[in-house]
Amino acid sequence: SGDLIEAFKSEIKSMGLEKEVSVLRTGCLGLCGVGPNVSIYPDNIIYKSVKVEDVKEIVMEHFYKGRPVQRLMLNESDQETNEIHDINKTKFYSKQKRIALHNCGVIDPENIQEYIAKDGYFALGKVLTEMTPQQVVDEIKESGLRGRGGGGFPTGLKWQFALNEPGPEKYVICNADEGDPGAFMDRSILEGNPHSVIEAMAIAAYAIGAHYGYIYIRAEYPIAVERLKHAINEAKELGLLGENIFGTGFNFDLEIRLGAGAFVCGEETALIQSIEGERGMPRPKPPFPAHSGVWGKPTIINNVETYANVAQIIINGAKWFKSIGTESSSGTKVFALGGKITNTGLVEVPMGTTLREVIYEIGGGCPNRKQFKAVQTGGPSGGCLTEKQLDTPIGFDELIKLGSMMGSGGMIVLDEDNCMVDVARFYMDFIVDESCGKCSPCRIGTKRMLEILEDICDGKGTMESLEELETLAHTIKDTALCGLGQSAPNPVLSTISQFRDEYIAHIVDKK
Ligand code: SF4
Repeated sequence: SGDLIEAFKSEIKSMGLEKEVSVLRTGCLGLCGVGPNVSIYPDNIIYKSVKVEDVKEIVMEHFYKGRPVQRLMLNESDQETNEIHDINKTKFYSKQKRIALHNCGVIDPENIQEYIAKDGYFALGKVLTEMTPQQVVDEIKESGLRGRGGGGFPTGLKWQFALNEPGPEKYVICNADEGDPGAFMDRSILEGNPHSVIEAMAIAAYAIGAHYGYIYIRAEYPIAVERLKHAINEAKELGLLGENIFGTGFNFDLEIRLGAGAFVCGEETALIQSIEGERGMPRPKPPFPAHSGVWGKPTIINNVETYANVAQIIINGAKWFKSIGTESSSGTKVFALGGKITNTGLVEVPMGTTLREVIYEIGGGCPNRKQFKAVQTGGPSGGCLTEKQLDTPIGFDELIKLGSMMGSGGMIVLDEDNCMVDVARFYMDFIVDESCGKCSPCRIGTKRMLEILEDICDGKGTMESLEELETLAHTIKDTALCGLGQSAPNPVLSTISQFRDEYIAHIVDKK
């Protein structure tokens, strides 16, 4: 993309078009599988898989002669009339609704003026000048927004607990420690629209009575970190962070804390401990962070995607948000669609959309005419769903009922060539690596589970070891200290329940 941008700038200059056409680096458009993408505004045309060699043709044909280059266009065109379809009506976008991802791929994330031109910081101005903290909390409660980090806890309720706590010292935290294999939703939001998170954190701080915040982000996201730093500085320069924001007397500042890539630091108490300078290890709950969080003070922790919805709820109202999605899961959900899928990428759909619509209509199904086998949702804490479960509407509770979970939004499609025992082994290997070692069920139990899985994969498994695997899985679920360990057996249990025959085949075949 970097080379493309330079090539476009140079070609546009050599054609004398630099006053008419500007080239911007934006956030993700979602179509990762056919990147790099070049989006032309206001024409609303997207070029896919663009190479430096294509730049001359696009500039000459599109900008100079006004004729889009059909062979590179994502937009479908009508064969008879030659009319170019609106990009929003293409298969990839037509079922999507962008709330958390709005502005991603549209504005320059390094220019606060572009965010402001799209109603940016309007919601913050509104809450500071027209609403009491309780009214803000009520609005979020009424919207039905639930935490997008995986737990699905009602956001407004969490804010209410923190608001109810007495005392002048409280904190807001953004959990940007996205660590699920295959997940890149939060990274894309921060790279494409960092101000949406900063603005939401200021709103949350006002709502609970906090004046300081932390964004805990993994250092492996260098572009997101740079854009966040830039965005924080821009907001400070315009007086949107700091003292006396909008002349209302409200003070709020925040800083970035870099995580070193430990999966367990996505768990909120481990994250708090890491911010405090300790080794990132979970603490027993209660007390919950809303009562006693960072530095022992009331703290709310929300993930990036949760925050990215907040300003939109304040601007459009709780009723608008509640009208999208299902009764128990309102709004939309962002998914990182990967694995054996034609359109790898980032998608945002209303809750209630079926898995089938996401995988086949948006994702284009499995490539190379391979047969779909399962979809893994929820990462190392989730499970696998099969063909007969694809008509399930997406929602927090619906996926849990099926033995999986929505998690933070990783969605990995598996086809007929994938061995489900190997998939379970992969996730267990990940967990063994990431276990912090504080409690024995997770530290020792997951290691033993991995040994059994490796034995089964190597043809050394027995029916007794399969039984031991299941017993261990249930014991770890019941006894591990934190969510990481409690949910670690899920991929194994879910693959045993859906694909027991594959486990048995490994045991029998190799005998
Ligand atoms: Fe650490 Fe695992 Fe215990 Fe959580 S369950 S505290 S990650 S050892």
